[in-house]
Amino acid sequence: MKIHPLYLNGEFVTTAETLAVLNPSTGQPFARMSVASRPVVAQAIASAHTAFSTWRNVTGKSRGDFLLKIAAEVERRKDEIARAITMENGKPLAQSQGEIGMTVDHLRWFAEEARRGYGRIIPPQADGKRHLVIKSPLGVVAAISPWNFPLVLAVRKIAPALAAGCTVVLKPASATPVCAALFAECVHAAGLPRGVFQLVVGAASEIGAEFLENPRCRKITFTGSTEVGKKLIAGAAATVKPLSLELGGHSPVLVFDDADLPRAVEGAMIAKYRNTGQSCIAANRIYVQRGCAQAFITAFVERVKALKVGDGLGAGIDVGPLINPAAVDFALSHIADAQARGAKLLCGGTRSGAPGGAFLEPAVLLDVPGAALGMCEETFAPVAYLNVFDTEEEAISRANDTTYGLAAYVFTRDLNRAFRLMESLEAGMIGINDSVPTTSNAPFGGVKQSGWGRELGIEGMDAFLDTKHASFVVA
Ligand code: NAP
Repeated sequence: MKIHPLYLNGEFVTTAETLAVLNPSTGQPFARMSVASRPVVAQAIASAHTAFSTWRNVTGKSRGDFLLKIAAEVERRKDEIARAITMENGKPLAQSQGEIGMTVDHLRWFAEEARRGYGRIIPPQADGKRHLVIKSPLGVVAAISPWNFPLVLAVRKIAPALAAGCTVVLKPASATPVCAALFAECVHAAGLPRGVFQLVVGAASEIGAEFLENPRCRKITFTGSTEVGKKLIAGAAATVKPLSLELGGHSPVLVFDDADLPRAVEGAMIAKYRNTGQSCIAANRIYVQRGCAQAFITAFVERVKALKVGDGLGAGIDVGPLINPAAVDFALSHIADAQARGAKLLCGGTRSGAPGGAFLEPAVLLDVPGAALGMCEETFAPVAYLNVFDTEEEAISRANDTTYGLAAYVFTRDLNRAFRLMESLEAGMIGINDSVPTTSNAPFGGVKQSGWGRELGIEGMDAFLDTKHASFVVA
């Protein structure tokens, strides 16, 4: 079985200690990954610190050219990397290919942004003074990424940090390190100078502690659960370490009577079942206005029943396995809790597939009380919670009744309503008749307990730049 190496200071390093990478469709290991101890992580930060002194002075254009070379290499190996994503994460192959397409686009977008680390000149208020604002790269950045979009969410951090002139140590999720290892090979093939990008894998709490406590690590950029995000906030207090946090979500979908119904059904399907429901911006709560409720529910359930569940490498699969059997148990507990509180199960909600796999038949529940677990916490599975509402005010109030604030979706043909909702929904991203709002050139991130800061767009690179003011007295 292949053992994937760490990538440390320009070298591929295979360690004696390794961890097994499981295929969630079978529960069987298909690869092993080398593991970094805490001293190895400290050494990686030291190498990144050394590399920073040179990389920060490479021109933005040249840094961008490196990113373009990485993008070309990822594209050249896209079939192999897509297959690895499906093997370790379980998602249908077409969705892994889509993830690679977006990864390449992020690399290209930030290759261009690398040239644009603009400062500004501020008109003085006093005679003889001049004020300049410049942007400087922060230094060594630690990136921690999750398993649900294992490649693109790592690159959403790496590409802007490198573009800004920072050096990066990546720690991917332990469940999905293989595509990060393949990405490291792409970086190496692109000829990035040693130490500018490194890959460490291993015990999250130890690696996280090194990132938090090592003064040479200037920032942690994290995507994952709100629970771990809170631990990082607590840990960062001691050193006042800056954090970017992309955390959990609980996105509402609001379907109004005036919506284009087929479009709303299609949009809700994508928002809910893409990535097997394991997306931070997944639709968690679907609210449908009474006038179109019956038609929407009938069409939606029909579509859900037609979804093909199976091994992501199979042909025509819509929904793959969850990340592991425990995730199926967790989703089943949310379904049982909703039913115990009076919700009606309209379809799905049972285990399926071969033993060892983590398959769940896509479920739809109707009339789910607000206190049900799945209405408050992320179920992170192909389980839809449907409720009916009467007025716009009620819809807004129910949509905002959550500690999260990542994405929200609205289906309406009324432009005035669209503007009112865009302004009143408490979320970092609002999809108006759009179930996939993510794009390289627009900011991505949450409000409330969904996180701090933004990735992508011009904000994405700014997250890795210090703003400095230089004040001159000119004789
Ligand atoms: P997770 O358990 O929080 O893990 C995320 C990453 O943090 C993994 O690399 C994990 O390593 C690491 N980690 C765990 N404990 C840590 C600690 N004490 N210190 C430092 N790092 C630690 O989240 P997940 O289950 O992988 O991902 C699902 C969650 O991510 C959901 O809540 C989802 O909504 C959220 N998410 C948010 C966004 C967004 O952009 N807002 C995007 C995608 C996902 P190990 O794997 O080694 O444990």
